[in-house]
Amino acid sequence: MRNNPSAVVCGPGGEICDWHGLVAAGRSGCEIHSLDDRLLIPLPEGSRLYFLPGRPAVGFNKSGKLELPGTGYTAVAAFLPPGYVALSLAAFNREGKAPLLPLYCYCAVCWYKGGFHVPAIRVDHDIKHDPSCFDMKKVYRAINCWLRKYPGNRLVRHHGMVCVREYGCPNAANLFLGRWEAPIAVSGGCNASCQGCISRQNLKMIQSPQVRISFVPTVKEIVEIAVPHLGKAPGAMISFGQGCEGEPLLQGNLIESAIREIRRRTKRGTIHINTNGSMPDVVERLAAAGLDSIRISLNSARPELYSAYYRCRKYSFDDVMESFRIAGKAGLWVSVNYLTFPGVTDDKAELAAFEKLLRTFKPKMIQWRNLNIDPDWYMQTVERAVPSKYPNHIGIPALMKEIRKKFPVIRFGYFNPPV
Ligand code: SF4
Repeated sequence: MRNNPSAVVCGPGGEICDWHGLVAAGRSGCEIHSLDDRLLIPLPEGSRLYFLPGRPAVGFNKSGKLELPGTGYTAVAAFLPPGYVALSLAAFNREGKAPLLPLYCYCAVCWYKGGFHVPAIRVDHDIKHDPSCFDMKKVYRAINCWLRKYPGNRLVRHHGMVCVREYGCPNAANLFLGRWEAPIAVSGGCNASCQGCISRQNLKMIQSPQVRISFVPTVKEIVEIAVPHLGKAPGAMISFGQGCEGEPLLQGNLIESAIREIRRRTKRGTIHINTNGSMPDVVERLAAAGLDSIRISLNSARPELYSAYYRCRKYSFDDVMESFRIAGKAGLWVSVNYLTFPGVTDDKAELAAFEKLLRTFKPKMIQWRNLNIDPDWYMQTVERAVPSKYPNHIGIPALMKEIRKKFPVIRFGYFNPPV
């Protein structure tokens, strides 16, 4: 006999508890459904639970009807650590004046077999962002060392004093620990205005969790960081395109010169870029200079939904597709950063469009990453861009299974691998 997971709610005093009378609910797109216990895993270490203001909790009663636990009980969601993808979002009954939620993932959470559980899947077992891997005292000591060694290097200061100390960025911490993937931020500007951009928001109601880098580093500043890291670090990788910047391709000339200079000094390690793929001509030049790997981000393989979310300026969805083509032709390791949202990414029309992209451009990897955004806010965009009268989704697990079956050589994961 299967156990029903119970709803988890936040009480009037801020206490988070289970509510045995109601079966836990989750959400895909705008549809609310009971949570499937076969998709549950124990709440992963490093997750955070938070209550959702202005959003009373809901669950299913014994007759299968949606019910509120009582006045003052708010919905609870889980923020998952890196490497995990949400299969179902938190369900709630949104009040008219509810504030916009900040830019996080709102995974459903329930009480099951004596503990908190979430409908989620671990797609990457790389430990490079695991909190247990970081001795922060050691990181701070290393930052001070670097600051003494390179007193005039603004990138060292930025990644140490802002990225590590203010944002707790694991990639930046790994730079100072001399291992794995290290960031190189270069661009304060962007040619898109994504609805869920984490480095700039124009709406007063919502804050971006990071602020963009306020200067353009020199080739010398980049090389001072990149060369020792690539030369010595295990799993060495440097990445342009970070959460604390805009679109790195806008600094194409600078990156091209930096790559040429780095490659004159060391052939070791992976040079990578995280990008929106908006400037295929720049991608081509960077590949010729010695770029090894590229990750192009998409919320959707459907041009209408892509454009509605990215709000591109001076480029189009076709340019992004051209970047995929050029990067593949140049022999780069190409990943799709697929911003995943239950009920939208697994829509049958989206699956058809994504399969076409995979067949055409044959990327090496799909990075499944949660789209961090207020679910209702995103659904307004989705419904405007690709209206659909009925739920047409198959579920994220079925989507992954389908892609796995049809494209068995494409690697699934979350992090950029060294190549
Ligand atoms: S492409 Fe990246 S930096 Fe530019 S608006 Fe979108 S999320 Fe922000």
